[in-house]
Amino acid sequence: MAEFWHISTDVIVIGSGAAGLSAAIEARQAGAAVMVFEKMPVIGGNTRISDGGLSAPGNFMQKRLGITDSPRMFYDDIMRAGLGLNHPELVKIFTQNASDAIDWTRQLGVQYQDRVDKFGGHCAARCVTIQNNAGRDIIKAQIRRLDQMQVSVHTRHALEDLITDDSGTVIGVRIRSRSRDSGPDLSSGPDQDSGPAADANQTMVQHIRARRAVVLATGGFGSDVAFRSCQNPRLDTTILTTNHKGATAEGLVAALHIHAMPVHLSWIQLGPWGCADEAGYGKGSRFASYSIFPTGILVNPATGNRIVNEWADRRQRSDAMLATGHVCAGIVDAKGAQKDPDSLAHCLKTQKTRQFDSLTRLAEAWQMPSDALEKTVSEYNHLVRTGKKDPFGKLPHKNAGPIDSPPFYAMGLWPKVHYTPGGLQINENAQVIDLNHRPIGHLFAAGEVTGGIHGAGRLGGCALPECIVFGRIAGQQAAI
Ligand SMILES: Cc1cc2nc3c(=O)[nH]c(=O)nc-3n(C[C@H](O)[C@H](O)[C@H](O)COP(=O)(O)OP(=O)(O)OC[C@H]3O[C@@H](n4cnc5c(N)ncnc54)[C@H](O)[C@@H]3O)c2cc1C
Repeated sequence: MAEFWHISTDVIVIGSGAAGLSAAIEARQAGAAVMVFEKMPVIGGNTRISDGGLSAPGNFMQKRLGITDSPRMFYDDIMRAGLGLNHPELVKIFTQNASDAIDWTRQLGVQYQDRVDKFGGHCAARCVTIQNNAGRDIIKAQIRRLDQMQVSVHTRHALEDLITDDSGTVIGVRIRSRSRDSGPDLSSGPDQDSGPAADANQTMVQHIRARRAVVLATGGFGSDVAFRSCQNPRLDTTILTTNHKGATAEGLVAALHIHAMPVHLSWIQLGPWGCADEAGYGKGSRFASYSIFPTGILVNPATGNRIVNEWADRRQRSDAMLATGHVCAGIVDAKGAQKDPDSLAHCLKTQKTRQFDSLTRLAEAWQMPSDALEKTVSEYNHLVRTGKKDPFGKLPHKNAGPIDSPPFYAMGLWPKVHYTPGGLQINENAQVIDLNHRPIGHLFAAGEVTGGIHGAGRLGGCALPECIVFGRIAGQQAAI
């Protein structure tokens, strides 16, 4: 067996997003030798491109502003958004430790803006945001810490398989590296048992032994069209994604191969703010979130009518758009567009948003029945002005005024796959559970590769703190 292994270490972490790097820091802190493997050329996964919003009750900004909140209130919000499918014991751990997770990032050097926001589905303002809305600052701070601890992240190294012994306990991993230049020199490591074997495709396959444990932190599968459309056939190539390219399911599948229990895989979250004329998350999505949805309306161009409460949760808005069968029009006036002038300027320049002198011109350009659109807008304005009941339930809304100040702006909106709440079942210690409801020996998981915490849908700002809470637990437990 000794000849089988190319190298060994105490704890192997797969994936370099917030969950994986949190686990690596904690495992090293507990005295374990740690190696982190990342299949992409860049570190950070979806965490790196995220907006950096973290929700937690009792966080430092709430304390500063005297906002009343509690883990119990947060728990209730999460269970409601998840339609009660959430695994309660995991939600409890998350809600009780989310604020500590934010403090931990501050200790690592992450800086936050002087604001706290209330997003849809939350009963309190509890989301703090990293400077420049940049999730990558978490990654930078974690990498700084890992450098101090002399732990490296080996990029272009993809997990292919988890290796188990006869009892099913995980004892190592099979890694394929694409370029020796970018990765560790595994042939010269102090723990080296034998040299790696090159294959015909100039990639290297290495067997790496984990003396203590493996932590799987490979993120979600939003970019994996084959896997996600198998779970939900609507999510084929006609639906784009906000995720990075590497958000694919191999890590999850490696665990399924050794009989890990999958949960909630078909509950895939779509972002209703997806700009139809832009790849990825982009400025269009930001303009839709900060301007169109709070201050404007979402219209089916075939009818000129509103289709949904523009401030409903992500699932309801996305479902309403998919039901129309085509790109919908997000419409806002000059006043509303000023909620996010930077994104507006960018979107006008790149023609993701178009400007019109009148609603009639807008309707013509969209080949929409003009009378119907005028009627829709005038009914909406009447509701805003009179405070009468909105049949869709959005109004009254504190940011919504009448849509009556030209010019008017319209953007094509179509949902994008944003988040995959389903994944591997874990327990309170972040151990991966098997199909017989028992922990798989020496295998831990954290972050978007896991499932159960958010149930049917995740609230805003809840993924990053959850990755940190369970990443830290996984690292501490893996090091034992
Ligand atoms: C545009 C965008 C904005 C977002 N904004 C927010 C926000 O403001 N607040 C919030 O809470 N959440 C937000 N989210 C969600 C959040 O960013 C993610 O859920 C979270 O970052 C996932 O972290 P992770 O560590 O689990 O996975 P990731 O950060 O995705 O990291 C996983 C890593 O594993 C690697 N990997 C995958 N398979 C393998 C393999 N086989 N071998 C080796 N490596 C592998 C991947 O390449 C990746 O680098 C956002 C998501 C997106 C896409």
